[in-house]
Amino acid sequence: MTQAAEILVLTAHPDDSEFGAAGSVARWADEGLQVVYAICTNGEKGTSDRTLQPEQLAVIRRREQQAAAAVLKVREVVFLGYPDQELEDTPELRKQVVRLIRTYRPKTLVTSDPYRRYLWHRDHRIIGQVAMDAVFPYARDHLAYPDLLAEGLEPHKVSEILFWAADDINYRIDITDTFERKVEALRCHASQLKGFRSSDPVGWLKERSREMAAGENYGLAEGFHRVELPQ
Ligand SMILES: [Zn+2]
Repeated sequence: MTQAAEILVLTAHPDDSEFGAAGSVARWADEGLQVVYAICTNGEKGTSDRTLQPEQLAVIRRREQQAAAAVLKVREVVFLGYPDQELEDTPELRKQVVRLIRTYRPKTLVTSDPYRRYLWHRDHRIIGQVAMDAVFPYARDHLAYPDLLAEGLEPHKVSEILFWAADDINYRIDITDTFERKVEALRCHASQLKGFRSSDPVGWLKERSREMAAGENYGLAEGFHRVELPQ
């Protein structure tokens, strides 16, 4: 199947994956793996600039996400077009995610951790949860969504889910060689970096990546909670 990709990255907003997984994405692409991004919302509420209309911001953020994906050699970016801050755990969204999984048939699905405690963007919590349910059991079972089966979208077993922004990190990826590209990809999201919490985002990111690699024999890491799925 020509559409197949080893890695499917599912995010609530443009820029989530660059913060959470861009170093790993660049690494996978370097290793020759196919990576596909699916971005659920337009991110059109992500600004404190009162002169900017949401429709304008949606266009800007789509462009920024495409530029970041190009830096990381992501093969394809799919935009689902949901309104920002309005992601819900609906049968419709779950089915769309199952459709993506059955279309791209990834070994690894990467998304945000739904179980991060306390302060967490609702959209991040929702998409992590929907992704997990879609992987298991909906994408796996042929009797779930007979209409997708009739379209030729066969069931698919994802091997692992990697959740970024996890409280409970049990898996680290060495991003020493791809850290610069992560920074370059993050810089593509210029509309988001303006209001960033630190005046030195690269320094902040490097420090966090260093902390994440503590105890490893490499310098910089991205950390995930990894869930292996029964095959
Ligand atoms: Zn986000």
